[in-house]
Amino acid sequence: KQKQFAALRDKPCVTRDGEHVALNINAGLLVDLPHIAETGAAGIGLFRTEMQFMVAASFPRSGEQERLYRAVLDAAGDRPVTFRTLDIGGDKVLPYMRSFEEENPALGWRAIRLGLDRPGLLRSQVRAMLKAAAGRNLRLMFPMVADVAEFERARAIVERELTHLRRHGYLLPEQLQVGVMVEVPSLLFELDELFARTDFVSVGTNDLVQFLYAADRGNTRVSDRFDPLSVPVLRALKRIIDIGQVHGKPVTLCGEMASQPLGAVALVALGYRSLSVSVAAVGPVKAVLRHLDARRAAQRILPWLEGCCSDTRLRERLHAFAESE
Ligand code: PEP
Ligand code: MG
Repeated sequence: KQKQFAALRDKPCVTRDGEHVALNINAGLLVDLPHIAETGAAGIGLFRTEMQFMVAASFPRSGEQERLYRAVLDAAGDRPVTFRTLDIGGDKVLPYMRSFEEENPALGWRAIRLGLDRPGLLRSQVRAMLKAAAGRNLRLMFPMVADVAEFERARAIVERELTHLRRHGYLLPEQLQVGVMVEVPSLLFELDELFARTDFVSVGTNDLVQFLYAADRGNTRVSDRFDPLSVPVLRALKRIIDIGQVHGKPVTLCGEMASQPLGAVALVALGYRSLSVSVAAVGPVKAVLRHLDARRAAQRILPWLEGCCSDTRLRERLHAFAESE
């Protein structure tokens, strides 16, 4: 099987009926970079910048951050990279940062909340990204945004740093795209306003599913209790891609769901054409998608999400469909 997947490396990720799916990888450290070439991925769909902070003994200085981001862009070459600003707090703690007990850390002071409350940290990170991408394309996005107002505040920080660098004569990125992760369910009901303002959206199903089902992703007693391949989750994901298409804005998905071949099949049926998966999943996902007829998948699968026929056995149905392909 490994050999079979390796042979797919230079083959395009295109369905039998000619639909191209951009298959990116999730990464976070320098050691991940060779995987871009090894997997033949389209790019890095999610670069988790907190990794550098988590393995460090103290806050990485702005210069160190900039060096890492530049190395990532160098390694990716022409392939796009999407940097995510710090997603710490919750389950990701920094040993050298003063933290306090929270009763519900996943719902607590984390990610963009911390970034907006401690703007010095977010600013220095954004500045490091802008400098690292001088003369190149930069895509950055914010985690755990819960409403459009938060996105606007975060985006204003980017504008402020841009103005600062411009005024000081720095070479700026040639192109800048600022996006948002959709992983807090409140955003599902503010999608029109969000898409009107954002350059792109990346769906984080790990957190989105955790919050939709109110089931802690890190607590094994409940983490497998609800199947993400279910009617409520797929309806939510369909809503995002549909509204994204109305606004003509790119939507990609970087949660673990995309790394499972069956999940990838469901996502392509919903209309997703860009996924970001773990390194080990590139081969298996590409193999299954190259076998898939995307149009037939949509015709078969979408009716299962409609009307009264909410079905708890959606996974079995999807499995049977994928087998028959
Ligand atoms: C997610 O929540 O789906 C995601 C991709 O981000 P993380 O797993 O880092 O929270
Ligand atoms: Mg997340």
